[in-house]
Amino acid sequence: MMNKSLKRIALLGSTGSIGTQTLDVLHRMQDDFVLHSIVAFNEVNILDKQIKDFHPSKAALFDNIAAEKLSALTNIPVLSGNEGIISLVEDPEVDIVVNAIAGAAGLLPGLAAIRANKRLLSANKECFVMAGHIFRDAMKNGGDIIPIDSEHSALLQASLAGKHKEIKELILTASGGPFFNKDIDFNTITPEQALAHPNWSMGQKISIDSATMFNKALEIIEARWLFDIPSEQISVLIHPQSIIHSLVEFNDYSQIAQLSLPDMRLPIQYALTYPDRKNCPIDKLNLAEIKTLTFHEVPVDRFPAISYAYKALELGSLAATVANAADEIAVSLFLSEKISFADISRIIGAALDHFAYDNSYPEIDEIILRDRETREWVMKKYP
Ligand code: NAD
Ligand code: MG
Repeated sequence: MMNKSLKRIALLGSTGSIGTQTLDVLHRMQDDFVLHSIVAFNEVNILDKQIKDFHPSKAALFDNIAAEKLSALTNIPVLSGNEGIISLVEDPEVDIVVNAIAGAAGLLPGLAAIRANKRLLSANKECFVMAGHIFRDAMKNGGDIIPIDSEHSALLQASLAGKHKEIKELILTASGGPFFNKDIDFNTITPEQALAHPNWSMGQKISIDSATMFNKALEIIEARWLFDIPSEQISVLIHPQSIIHSLVEFNDYSQIAQLSLPDMRLPIQYALTYPDRKNCPIDKLNLAEIKTLTFHEVPVDRFPAISYAYKALELGSLAATVANAADEIAVSLFLSEKISFADISRIIGAALDHFAYDNSYPEIDEIILRDRETREWVMKKYP
């Protein structure tokens, strides 16, 4: 018999950077959690090994052929496609869904989790960027969302020092990525240079987004919806050491921050144990050793991506969807050396200008259509 007090987890994106770190965290917390299912894109061999190591009772792969291959290797049920993934998310045996899928592919599974009144622990930020208003609406029925993104985890922790109506500003910190304080021509940057993040080791897409600072643009929009705070009350502060993960300023000008060494296992674990805290095996922060924390304003002329967040929030979720989709394609074009690093931001700006935005609160079908139209538009323009 399964212990009823154990929380059952569906882990989406189990093969990625956040997914593997989540498995690492869960492995130490077997008294509280049990892995119900794992989901990934098409990584058959990694999934097979994860099934052997972590014993989930079900699995799903987005890719049908990969799912058939995995089925032949394992005894547990293997589902496929978005329908398969969503049926795992909705499974009545699942209590908590961890969404660590990269990109827009995380939208429908994340939304399914909230609509099924699950607790959603989301590393995926693109789902809130594209459909934040729909998530907020769907949460009214009882599902809740705990962020895994380190800045939003810090904002959640800091926000507990006051009431929602006392919040004056959300201050998102940003490392600035590898090029913030480098005198380098953005037209000449190679993928290898852009992938080398100074403080974090992450998936490819988010590493490039950190270098253009479009990751912070996504996080501004994510914060707007997760904390229900208007964009005028959200700002970005460059903090190259990535020790302060974000701050909440209250109406009395108190600023409350969360500090730790940069290690995603902490926000992953906090999301799992929230509102409680447990011992975590990350290294202790020693400020006397670090000595100096520095802060800078964002040089928006070099990182126009930041301004796209505010523009998209003004124009509504279809504009945020356009910016996100244009970035996903632009990043893949840059990684395959078809466009320059500087082109990534140019393409997002051009895509935002190209489309019309007459509906600030679109339905999910409109969002998915606009996501596809944007991808097609960018690919046609930059074949
Ligand atoms: P990653 O590229 O390392 O892993 C992505 C995972 O998503 C893989 O398991 C892949 O199989 C799965 N996936 C991709 N497309 C899929 C699909 N259509 N269906 C099912 N699964 C699919 O990415 P990551 O760096 O772990 O990032 C995941 C998410 O977390 C992103 O939204 C990212 O912005 C966010 N995030 C990551 C970090 C980090 O440190 N890596 C920090 C904060 C937020
Ligand atoms: Mg982040």
